[in-house]
Amino acid sequence: MQNRTGPSQVYRYEGSSKSGRPIFASLLRGAAHKCPACGVGAMFRRYLKVSDACPHCGEALHHHRADDAPAYFTIVIVGHIVVSLVLAVEMAYRPPLWLHAALWLPLTMILTLVLLPSVKGALVGLQWALRMHGFDPDAKEEIVPGFDADLAQGSPRPRRLDFQP
Ligand SMILES: [Zn+2]
Repeated sequence: MQNRTGPSQVYRYEGSSKSGRPIFASLLRGAAHKCPACGVGAMFRRYLKVSDACPHCGEALHHHRADDAPAYFTIVIVGHIVVSLVLAVEMAYRPPLWLHAALWLPLTMILTLVLLPSVKGALVGLQWALRMHGFDPDAKEEIVPGFDADLAQGSPRPRRLDFQP
């Protein structure tokens, strides 16, 4: 029987089943700066620093490889908003250039800083839902013959995988 007085509002996506990680819901949880698994714990421990593990449910979050994708998508989003506004205001009012600069430079800065954590959170949530990188608990490490042998010997420059001598 379901305990209705307990924390039944918190639905934790099941991490072990294949279909247990809904993509869009995980992405939305990430965009809200929440852990994609439980939707409660904070994803970030600082402005853009992803927590190693969720402080609420303990889901490992350090596997993410967001890299520069959040910056790329933030530029695309902010660019479309600001350029559209610049063109609309110019066509409607033809304000002096100093007014354009005074309006759009701060708006660009603020929009970027506000959107960047949400975009990064959404991407980490997406990677989690798709079991990318280390987010798949069943993943087995891929072993490439030759390549890994070179790494083990401490070769400073491993052979290229497609190179046939
Ligand atoms: Zn969590």
